[in-house]
Amino acid sequence: MKIPFASFEPMHNEIRAELDEAYNRVMDKSYFIQGEECNKFEEEFAAYCNTKYCVGVATGLDAIYLILRAMEIGVGDEVIIPSNTFIATALAVSYTGAIPVLVEPEIDTYNIDVTRIEEKITANTKAVIAVHLQGRPADMDAINIIAKKYGLKVIEDAAQAHGARYKGKLVGALSDAAAFSFYPGKNLGALGDGGGVTTSNKEIAEKVRALGNYGSDYKYHHIYKGTNSRLDEMQAAFLRVKLPHLEKWNDERRKIAKRYLTEITNPLIKLPATTTEDYEHIYHVFAVRCSMRDELERYLNENGIGTVKHYPIPIHMQKAYESLEILEGTLPIAEEISRTILSIPMYYGMNDEEVSYVINKINSFYYYRR
Ligand SMILES: *Cc1c(COP(=O)(O)O)cnc(C)c1O
Repeated sequence: MKIPFASFEPMHNEIRAELDEAYNRVMDKSYFIQGEECNKFEEEFAAYCNTKYCVGVATGLDAIYLILRAMEIGVGDEVIIPSNTFIATALAVSYTGAIPVLVEPEIDTYNIDVTRIEEKITANTKAVIAVHLQGRPADMDAINIIAKKYGLKVIEDAAQAHGARYKGKLVGALSDAAAFSFYPGKNLGALGDGGGVTTSNKEIAEKVRALGNYGSDYKYHHIYKGTNSRLDEMQAAFLRVKLPHLEKWNDERRKIAKRYLTEITNPLIKLPATTTEDYEHIYHVFAVRCSMRDELERYLNENGIGTVKHYPIPIHMQKAYESLEILEGTLPIAEEISRTILSIPMYYGMNDEEVSYVINKINSFYYYRR
């Protein structure tokens, strides 16, 4: 049996006619940037997340960057992020001129360890970026309490968490502003790049919109040195087709995760922490840990099962971040995760037989030499 790590096919086959219709609608209008589709999607996504505003931008990376710019975070400032996240979280901070300060995650949720945030706060700290990694909400109450105590802004990096809920509330509405990515592989993905900022803060919404439109508040009037970062009409139209299906797609992923969590019983495999009802995970990825990770990966691949390492090199050990001067060994939990983590197939449309095949193969894995 061949099971890819991820597949768009089952999802796109179901909505193909609607996607074609959306494409035709935009082509017929011949209006491609800053039109009605983007406006409507922004309204619909803000309504879904229960925020007052959504601003479409070009990518998830830009969404984080533009929020930081709107908060006037820059040179001389520090921003706390988890040491275990996709590099975009750190890059967005670096683009503003601020320094990303890395805080270790919990080993079994992979999310920021809230008990280790305070020790990294200095007089220069301006914000905390909470990443809902893999689709599991971070502990937002704890983060918001710390932020309030020190007068810090809170940003959610919700790029992997569309539709995840924390204590019953959707992510995207749990901080000053949240960044979403609509990269095709995300749980809500366009057919190209896309991003969005959700917030209920009018000033942030307006500033993000202006900053993403050459710093312009109205045409040819420029109040900031902005950039060009907008969600185009075609992608917005596709996202409008997909949004009403998101809850169903996430439910299906949860069912697969539930089977993985109960049926993977191999003692060599460490499963992620289960969730309580306060943390509604959407399983953007399902990642296990194994001390023989590379052998496990080779074995699964040889058996036709696709895998990905999220992520094999932590930020502080990347060449791009040599300048942070954080030595190997300094962030042992992020390092341990990078050495042992492996994401297994997880996508809408994976059938029971395929899930069983993955489970059986993982359960029959033992350290083998060739
Ligand atoms: C995908 C992702 C981003 C960046 O989104 P792009 O749309 O690819 O720019 C940022 N943070 C996290 C956690 C992500 O997974």
